[in-house]
Amino acid sequence: TRQERQQYKVIVGLGSTGLSCARFFHAQGIPFRVVDSRFSPPCLATLEVEFPFVDVELGGFSEETLLSADELVVSPGVSLATPEIAKAINSGIPVTGDIDIFRHYCKQPLVAITGSNGKSTVVTLLAEMAQHAGLNMGVGGNLDGRASMPALDMLSSEEREIYLLELSSFQLETTQHLNADIAAILNISEDHMDRYESMHEYRQAKLRIFDGCKTAVVNRNDESTLPPGTFGGEVISIGFDIPLSNEFGIRVLEEREWLVKGEDCLIALDEMKLVGRHNVANAMVALAVAMQIGIPLVYAVETLKQFQGLPHRCQWVRSLRGVDYYNDSKGTNVSATCQAIAGVAEKIQGDVYLIAGGLAKEADFGPLVPLLRNYVSRVVLIGRDRQLIADAIADAVVTEFAESLEEAISTCRELAIAGDAVLLSPACASQDMFKDFAHRGRVFVATTEGLQ
Ligand code: ADP
Repeated sequence: TRQERQQYKVIVGLGSTGLSCARFFHAQGIPFRVVDSRFSPPCLATLEVEFPFVDVELGGFSEETLLSADELVVSPGVSLATPEIAKAINSGIPVTGDIDIFRHYCKQPLVAITGSNGKSTVVTLLAEMAQHAGLNMGVGGNLDGRASMPALDMLSSEEREIYLLELSSFQLETTQHLNADIAAILNISEDHMDRYESMHEYRQAKLRIFDGCKTAVVNRNDESTLPPGTFGGEVISIGFDIPLSNEFGIRVLEEREWLVKGEDCLIALDEMKLVGRHNVANAMVALAVAMQIGIPLVYAVETLKQFQGLPHRCQWVRSLRGVDYYNDSKGTNVSATCQAIAGVAEKIQGDVYLIAGGLAKEADFGPLVPLLRNYVSRVVLIGRDRQLIADAIADAVVTEFAESLEEAISTCRELAIAGDAVLLSPACASQDMFKDFAHRGRVFVATTEGLQ
């Protein structure tokens, strides 16, 4: 029987999350093994140095190991639908993830943020607001953010007053009892359709963030962010309309747009440096959370006035002969690219030259069509799925192909005239041509800076 066997956890996936789990289990004296379907997973060398005595199985998932586990600790990069994992789960092996383990051991208040787009921006804003106000906040979770680390690594470093987690839908899939004090869903739009059967399934993963949560922060203009009817906590909403007393929204006073809470003006939109309406929504969520956790308003507002945005997110790179160049390499899904086109178009007099393409993740490119018609004079497509994208948008705009990002930039440079903008916002993942989105963005910035 299971009782008689030696008990051990199986860490599935040896990236930085898997490594953080190994370190944590080791520190707690909990026996574990590690498995990965790859032969040389990213953190293998580090694991072998730190824990030479640990069993590691590579190049596949052995049924025997999975079925004899006390619990599977699955990394966000591994789908629960992977046949071997699904089989183990179906035979009753419990499954968890690093976030659940973190929550179990973390006794301090917890803020959790998810959404299809804007997570890193909101989390970074909150981290800077907290720093400004002298609040000792640990920031971790999803690893895109500059200031973040795997959740479990935070528990072994200095103790904090409060923790902030950025969570992807993949991390939430293995999270049962988050019990966050405050949880926010920024928006839900199509992404990762190569890993989810449907939008419904993707949304269900995100909604787990509200399990046991005291205060939900939602976008009232995006119904899919609202908690289920059974939700028992408080709800605070943000939106672009005029708000009720406890809500965040927009009011126009003497021809100036203000971000407001009820009737109170918090900051005029023209005082913020961030580009695009989507960032106004991000700013509202950051303010809502900041006020809820007791960050004085002056610090929160001051941070919003100074914050220039993260690199690779609608980042202005340079101007050459009156043409502005923007790096939105982090625009890795269709909705993000729609926001980037609208945000950049708002800033310029002329047209947008869009560079897009890469790995399409089975996305629907249809939502791009109206934006391409209105604001974009040409799309230069790169990457593996460029033909697929061209087929989807060819009726809306002139498209052409380039063999490399450098070639795409040079095509745009020749075509664009003063008043126009060149925007890299691929609406795709980058791994067909680059290490990751940051690498793609760096190539764009370096090439653009070298243009004469
Ligand atoms: P995430 O961490 O969720 O990927 P980021 O803050 O890194 O989000 O932004 C990713 C991309 O999504 C940016 O390039 C930007 O164009 C777009 N974006 C940011 N915030 C929003 C939002 N609130 N709604 C829609 N798109 C957004």
